[in-house]
Amino acid sequence: MSVLFVTSEHAELLKSGGLGDISAALPRALRETGCDIRILMPAYPSVLAKVRPITIVAHRKGRGAIPPYLIGATELSGGVPLYLVLAPTLFQRDGAAYGGPDGRDHADNDLRFACLSLAAAEICAGLPRLGWRPDILHAHDWVSGLAPAYARWWKLPVRSVMTIHNIAHQGLFPYHRMPDLDVPPEAFSLDGLEFHLHGSFLKAGIYYSDHLTTVSPTYAEEITTEPLGGGLHGLIGGIAAAGRLTGIPNGIGEEWNPARDPYLPAAFDAGNLDGKAEAAEVIRTALCLDPAEGPLFGVVSRLVHQKGLDLVAEAAAEIVARGGQIAILGTGDPQVEAMLLDLSRRHRGKVGLMVGFNEPMAHRIIAASDFFLMPSRFEPCGLTQMQAQRYGTLPIAHRTGGLADTIEDGETGFLFAPADAGELIGAAERAFAVFADKDRLAAMRRAAMAKDFAWSGPAKAYKALYARLADDGSSRSARSRSLTVVPKTRTPASKVA
Ligand code: ADP
Repeated sequence: MSVLFVTSEHAELLKSGGLGDISAALPRALRETGCDIRILMPAYPSVLAKVRPITIVAHRKGRGAIPPYLIGATELSGGVPLYLVLAPTLFQRDGAAYGGPDGRDHADNDLRFACLSLAAAEICAGLPRLGWRPDILHAHDWVSGLAPAYARWWKLPVRSVMTIHNIAHQGLFPYHRMPDLDVPPEAFSLDGLEFHLHGSFLKAGIYYSDHLTTVSPTYAEEITTEPLGGGLHGLIGGIAAAGRLTGIPNGIGEEWNPARDPYLPAAFDAGNLDGKAEAAEVIRTALCLDPAEGPLFGVVSRLVHQKGLDLVAEAAAEIVARGGQIAILGTGDPQVEAMLLDLSRRHRGKVGLMVGFNEPMAHRIIAASDFFLMPSRFEPCGLTQMQAQRYGTLPIAHRTGGLADTIEDGETGFLFAPADAGELIGAAERAFAVFADKDRLAAMRRAAMAKDFAWSGPAKAYKALYARLADDGSSRSARSRSLTVVPKTRTPASKVA
């Protein structure tokens, strides 16, 4: 089984959120099952600074306004082959994966990520010096959504899987840009990638791939509904009804292990939590929190509307009044940052804020906290609630998406719904009651720490899916060799919408 895994982030090279973690962990876990999986991603400056040597395996011409580019090959730790799209005018820039240092998206993200998708499709078509072609093309989120589309338009003999990590990011670009991306004119329609007069990279991936997955069973149901389907619920509902949508929860990597976490002041495990108390002391000092005996509530998050941090701000006075403290680490929307800064000033010594992306601090806050606040309005899977449980930190989370699937209410954490401050306070009150009952607290911590969030489980599920699709593909091509070829008809989006 050979698979090309197309992504825009990788935790060891450049990460802005969960996709980076998944891109690092899932291919490694799949290789352990014997799957020949290889990663393709853009050669950002931080990538080029970290991986060497790179062998150039293809010079490509570009298409439309997509400039010529090279494909380089190298290897990641653990022996995972990595292919890089080397297009200096598109990827050699300061900043993060999607935008500049000012936090704004690059204006030519359509060209940048069309180039990534183009490279993926050209690998699937077969590059002579590479000598390798995948059975399965696995695209992730809008950034690689055009890859299954090119593969379909060019009638490539590859089966494609599209994974939605967050339907809120769709990659919408003006229709007049589509010819620049080598999108055939007939594809700019409802039965194609058109979405409200824009070209949607995500819809392209959903529409043209053979199978759709998302990162939890509950989110798989939620994206077929109007409130959480991002306007694509009709199309996705049709795909689900045809048995082509699967929810596979993410895992967390071995770097999340309190027994050997280099970022912690002291190791700990379920049998001895002294190190957790030491981490709490470190965090209280680092975030200027008063010495205290009450519970510490942690937050590690992108600071965006999705994550419901306004609910944390609304609930904070109640939490503080009951003797709790809140330690927050995050970065993102300047308005959310300003709101939390104001909160920390109003509750000096009780609410501490560190703005920034800081991996060691993320580990320390998760280790230090008694409870972990996650009132996300929606959450496709979420990783931090799993990281928290592995460290004996009980999540308090909105019952949605992957949070509903990975937290057992009253056993390994606390779930509440709907997502409002009153319900969050109610769940926090239950947490205070558990904190006061040391036996119950210890039992819940043990149950949380015993949970298996290893990537080996999800890797098996993806491998089974790849195998099913590959079988399906080979029986289909055997049929097409011996029978009259009937073009596959698809349910038009308008019929299922
Ligand atoms: P999302 O992908 O929506 O941002 P997830 O919970 O799926 O949320 O994944 C977030 C990942 O990024 C986790 O590994 C978390 O520990 C990490 N993370 C989030 N914010 C920060 C931060 N400010 N500093 C360091 N790591 C962070």
